[in-house]
Parts: sequence; structure tokens; C-alpha cells
Amino acid sequence: AKELGRNNFQYFSADMNQDATERLGTLNALRQALANDEFVLHYQPKINLLTGAVVGAEALVRWRSPARGMVTPNDFIPLAEESGLIIDIGAWVLRTACAQAMAWRQEGHGGRDALMVSVNLSPSQLMRDDIVDVVAGVLAATGLPPRLLELEITETVVMRDIEKSLDKLARLKMLGIRISIDDFGTGHSSLNYLKRLPVDILKIDRSFVNDIATDEDDAAIVKAIISLARILNLDVVAEGVETEAQRRFLMENGCDVGQGYHFSRPLPAAAFASAWLALPGE
Ligand code: C2E
Ligand code: CA
Ligand code: CA
Ligand code: CA
Repeated sequence: AKELGRNNFQYFSADMNQDATERLGTLNALRQALANDEFVLHYQPKINLLTGAVVGAEALVRWRSPARGMVTPNDFIPLAEESGLIIDIGAWVLRTACAQAMAWRQEGHGGRDALMVSVNLSPSQLMRDDIVDVVAGVLAATGLPPRLLELEITETVVMRDIEKSLDKLARLKMLGIRISIDDFGTGHSSLNYLKRLPVDILKIDRSFVNDIATDEDDAAIVKAIISLARILNLDVVAEGVETEAQRRFLMENGCDVGQGYHFSRPLPAAAFASAWLALPGE
């Protein structure tokens, strides 16, 4: 659009108006979406790269909008975040994911090593004063053992307000849950802070995983993150595993757990359960 020339200013401006109107429409629809029960969670398995066993599931929200169809989170989470709606949506996600994990546990899925569930926490959720109470309340209400809940927090958010994050994460960890740093490698963590952060897991961003089998630099970065995790005594998870070559590289270099289309796309709860949680003999 930039190459169109100066006479196109009017078109450009008209487009921007349309965008603003559309945004407002989307925002209004998003406001109704919770009450109308239009959100749904899909679950993507986390896989032990050595054994192929499923060890957990990441809950990923989708918006089933009557007017827009299935909307992916990248198309509404930013707006939800800006408008504050993410607080209620995030609480719904947390409640729904924990209730689902508890239901699977009670059905006996996952055998003795019960399935962990991971929930993404948005920046404004983490920064709210009541976040620890919200999480504690959901654990109490659903009965899910805290050790089966993992919260994923992006690296940029943690680094933006490090002192506040340190305090929040410490209090969340006291609940007995696990915390992972999502999109690790994209947010310039200072090693000094990383050492002090009360987290359990580094989740390698898929932009690095993408080319590990072909790009020496990305391969080196991923190896470095894996050894960093080992030094800091953290677990490491790779996201965006799409090929067998990537799986093998990660496994051979000491990454225990991976997630990605190579194993499965995120699936609706029922499909996830039948694909990944069928009991032996079922
Ligand atoms: P994320 O937390 O980094 O989640 C991983 C994203 O990568 C998901 O996209 C997933 O479907 C996708 N993915 C998984 N495996 C592969 C793969 O092998 N290749 C590729 N190319 N992509 C893969 P999704 O579901 O569209 O979610 C996008 C982002 O939206 C998430 O990124 C997360 O930041 C955000 N999000 C999703 N659900 C929630 C939520 O409940 N709350 C909040 N605050 N954010 C959420
Ligand atoms: Ca995530
Ligand atoms: Ca991620
Ligand atoms: Ca990512």
C-alpha cells in the first residue's frame, strides 16, 4: 500500500475510518461474547520427546463468533488486553481449563502421572493485585491439585516490571503451581534476573525452533537455551515442533518436552481426549 503514491491518501484515510468502526464493532461483540458463551478452549498436547507420551496440555482460547466465525487469539487478545476485557476472559479461561483438567483426572485419563494443564496469563492479569487470589480461588473451586497447573507468562512482560513480577511470581509459586516463561529468547532476559525469578520452565520460542535443523545460528541459540536451563535447574519445553528432524535435534540436545504440529494441532476438549487420553484397553 505504501507504493501507491500520494494521491491515494484519501483511500488510506477511508480505510482507517473503516478500521476504527470495525474495531468498535469488534469490541462491542467481544463484550457480549462472555455472556453469550462464545469462547472455547482448544488443547495442544505437550509431548515427552523421548517416549512420545503426553505430559500436559496447553489451553488456547478461540472466539466462536456468530458474525465472524472462529477467531484466533491473535485477532482479539490484543483488543481484549487494551480494553481490560482480558481480565474476565482470562478468569474464564483459567476456570474452564482447571475444571477440564480436573474432569480428565477424575475420569482416570493420564493414568498415575496426571496430566498438567497450562494456561496463558496476559500482562494485565499478572499485574493485577488480586491475581493470586483469583488463581487460589479457581484451584479451590475446581479441586485441581496446584502442582497440575502451569501458568505461562511471556518473557517481555516479566522483564518490563521486574520487581513487581518477582513479587507476584513468588506469591503465585507459594500456591504450589508451576510457572513457565513463554516465548523465551525473544525478550532480552538479563541472566541476573533470570537467576532470581521463581520460575520452573523455559519455553523456547518457536521462531528459534523453526530452523534448528537447517540454520546453524538457530541451532546454536537453542542449544544455549537448553544449557542455560540446565544450569539454572529449570525444565525446558520447545514450542512449534513441526518436523521429525526438529524433534530429534531437540531430544538429542537435552530438551525433554515439545509441542507443535508434528504431534498435534490444538484440539477441542473431546477430540483431545480421544486422541491423547484414551486409557489402555479403551
Ligand atoms: P503462544 O502462547 O505462544 O501459543 C502457541 C501458539 O502457537 C498457538 O497459537 C498454537 O496454536 C501455535 N502453534 C502450536 N504449534 C505450532 C506449530 O508447530 N507451528 C506453528 N506455526 N504454530 C504452532 P494460537 O492458539 O493462535 O495462540 C496465539 C497466541 O495467543 C498464544 O501464543 C498466546 O500468546 C495467545 N493466547 C492464546 N490463548 C490465550 C489465553 O487464553 N489467554 C491469553 N492471555 N493469551 C492467549
Ligand atoms: Ca503459551
Ligand atoms: Ca509461546
Ligand atoms: Ca510464541
